[in-house]
Amino acid sequence: MTAPSPSAPIAGLHHVTAISGPPQPNLDYYVRTLGQRLVKKTVNFDAPDVYHLYYGDGEAAPGSILTFFPFMNARRGTAGPGMAQAFSYAVDPAAIDSLAAELGGTRADRFGMPVLQLRDPDGLVVELVGEPGAPARPEAFFGASLWLDDPEPTARLLADGFGYAEVGTETGAGGTWTRLALPGDAPGRVIDLWRSDTPARGRPGAGTIHHIAFRAQDDADQDAIRVRLIDLGMEVTPRIDRQYFNAIYFREPGGVLFEVATDPPGFAIDEAPTELGTALKLPPQYEGRRAQIEAALPPVTVPA
Ligand code: ZN
Repeated sequence: MTAPSPSAPIAGLHHVTAISGPPQPNLDYYVRTLGQRLVKKTVNFDAPDVYHLYYGDGEAAPGSILTFFPFMNARRGTAGPGMAQAFSYAVDPAAIDSLAAELGGTRADRFGMPVLQLRDPDGLVVELVGEPGAPARPEAFFGASLWLDDPEPTARLLADGFGYAEVGTETGAGGTWTRLALPGDAPGRVIDLWRSDTPARGRPGAGTIHHIAFRAQDDADQDAIRVRLIDLGMEVTPRIDRQYFNAIYFREPGGVLFEVATDPPGFAIDEAPTELGTALKLPPQYEGRRAQIEAALPPVTVPA
């Protein structure tokens, strides 16, 4: 194995993708309650009878994109080792009290930062982390946390593959946190690794995170990252066209599914920026089946 070539760190998270139950409560929670914008309404490209809903900030910027596959009859899942267990938005620390009064949730403190832990309608953990300079309402990501039996190989991969550096470790309730962060000020640049003191087992399903995606600047950057990951022993897929970005996927050493997604072309490729999320968008391979696909999808109302 050759040593991976040194390269600039990545910017941070591109998107987080999770599984939910029926789409309407999911839309109501993320748009009406948390104030995210629905930036794309499309279908699962591998199973077009299921929506793929994308939420983001007003500009649908990488680092703010949260996506769901909402299954009408999904069984509730639970996070465990080898899965991402939560994602977080950065908010102004001074806003945490009023957000807690408005949204409920559980207060905590991690690495000296206040955390408000919420659960969405399917039980997925959504954290609001007080970070100086962040907006008063959730807009872009602070980061994500991964549940791992052994955090060390994952920490090494994040360091050698993506340029993360360890911030520190901290004892939490029933386990240990290790925080890694990227330099710079792009959103979604913190990854927390959670090691539980007691054995547990996760189960994929509604309310669990399917994968987290990191940012590549463009196809050339993604190629360089792919070569580096392969040098590090990862089994990485070829590039897959996801219409709004190009994607490669691999399972990191702890078992969590990671993706690297390109910033371009972005979500305005098939809708004007002011129209994002207002129409059902289908990739070219499904346009010919639009009538059947629309008939099979449950009707939804996007909150104003
Ligand atoms: Zn993805």
